[in-house]
Amino acid sequence: MFSERVMKLLNEQITKEFFSAYLYLHFANYYEEQGLKGFSNWFTVQAQEERDHALLFIKYMQNNDIKVTFEAIGKPDTELKEHIDALKAALVHEQYVTASIHSIYEAAYENKDFRTMQFLDWFVKEQAEEETNASDNIKKMELFGSESRSLYMLDQELGTRVYTAPSLVL
Ligand code: MG
Repeated sequence: MFSERVMKLLNEQITKEFFSAYLYLHFANYYEEQGLKGFSNWFTVQAQEERDHALLFIKYMQNNDIKVTFEAIGKPDTELKEHIDALKAALVHEQYVTASIHSIYEAAYENKDFRTMQFLDWFVKEQAEEETNASDNIKKMELFGSESRSLYMLDQELGTRVYTAPSLVL
């Protein structure tokens, strides 16, 4: 039922999601160092979501007797010089993850693997949200980031984000 290619791509996605978590912790740590604890909170919550995504891929594979192999997670080395840099890098990264999800979907579609397509539907929608959030953050920083009082208020706003478990349950 599952093609070799789909199984390989699913396994690779686990690593990509864990890398996303690691990358966002790198961003959170940068903002923490800059005294922007709200931004740090936002990316820490985002990292938790990315870990959840990885766990969902693992669970889906386990439920379907697809072998899981844990690969090495890369070093996040995005250079951060200005406050907006991490926000821009996050959007580029989410666009990369979207393309990755879509490529699994394409492989599943070609194999008439309807089960994997249905599993991925949630992620297709989730990626649209991730890109919107990342884009909104850039716009807000462009509008308010250059003035210290409005940057403070933006930091307060991002500090209110709380973690919620994913709506997809396997
Ligand atoms: Mg993700």
